[in-house]
Amino acid sequence: MAEDTIFARIVRGEVPATIVYRDDMVTAFRDIAPVAPTHILIVPNRTIPTLNDLTADDAALIAHMVLTAQRLAQQEGIAESGYRVVINCNPQGGQSVYHLHLHLIGGRKMSWPPG
Ligand code: AMP
Repeated sequence: MAEDTIFARIVRGEVPATIVYRDDMVTAFRDIAPVAPTHILIVPNRTIPTLNDLTADDAALIAHMVLTAQRLAQQEGIAESGYRVVINCNPQGGQSVYHLHLHLIGGRKMSWPPG
């Protein structure tokens, strides 16, 4: 069923995760396979499969996701050193879980372009 991604199950508390923040719109938890010292995923509590599925009605939600990343970067102590915020979309974008999520990655120097 479309609602039943691993992230939907984390949001519902059915699957354990290291949750660092939650409110009525989003849940943020540590990535299970971190690619940097800080690697947090910020997900909407409501399942939205990909970035392609966002509409103008979701403007407040996506703004809230980005502002949550900004605040968590401060909290993690990486705001000044720098960090990256990423949304992967569909296969060529590297998306593996089809529940919209924003990666907050930091704590080490990163290269560009991504592989
Ligand atoms: P993406 O490739 O952009 O779809 O990212 C999915 C991310 O979810 C990957 O970085 C995975 O390591 C992470 N992930 C998958 N399952 C879990 C889980 N149960 N708890 C935390 N992170 C997970």
